[in-house]
Amino acid sequence: MNILIYNEFVHESQPGPAQDMYPRGIHMAISEGVSKIDPEALSFTYATLENHRDVITRDVLKQTHVLIWWGHMRHHLVDDEVVRMICEEVGAGMGLIVLHSGHESKVFRALMGTRCGVEWYEKGDPGRIWILDQTHPIVKGVENPIEIEAEETYAEPFTVPVPDELIGITWWKGGEIFRGMSVYHRGLGKIFYFHPGHETLPSYYNPAVIRVIDNAIHYVAPVQRVDEVTSHHIEPHEK
Ligand code: ZN
Repeated sequence: MNILIYNEFVHESQPGPAQDMYPRGIHMAISEGVSKIDPEALSFTYATLENHRDVITRDVLKQTHVLIWWGHMRHHLVDDEVVRMICEEVGAGMGLIVLHSGHESKVFRALMGTRCGVEWYEKGDPGRIWILDQTHPIVKGVENPIEIEAEETYAEPFTVPVPDELIGITWWKGGEIFRGMSVYHRGLGKIFYFHPGHETLPSYYNPAVIRVIDNAIHYVAPVQRVDEVTSHHIEPHEK
């Protein structure tokens, strides 16, 4: 299975707390974590803000089963043509996983059709993700609740459409809640949004978080891929 990870790679490319936490970048922390627990041969390709125009081409997207998206400060610099191609490929069946601050990415907002804003503060508080559907494939092998040691607090209202599959709700020490574990269907594609993953906090070393991401890769991977979603003139099926 071909996995393409887009990581903006601005925070961790400079010395500071994000680089201290993820010295090789968030994209490598995710792929290394997933590779350790997944017996299937997953092939990873990486794109960053700097090279995304060259890496995320139509041909690459056609070969990609699941695209994972992490961005934060530079959403506005992502190429609109790349965004358009990604949305088309999701409609044609490509899986998409949007992590943490990717909620405000052009890709996620285009696919949701809403502002996708959250209420937030950054205290590194603990959170607890209560699983609502324990039969869902995305939480296979995961204990309920998922304990998050320290995260940026994302709280409701989250201005997204009503999720097609609401898998978990996060409780925060500060009293807030958040729908940060949801699946949306767009065309033939499935999109999983998952909130953990602030750049200076250790969520991508949390085995339960990695397990969820790995399960999600398999869940959103295409069942069927269509090359063209267009209209066709046809003759009646019955003469
Ligand atoms: Zn953050």
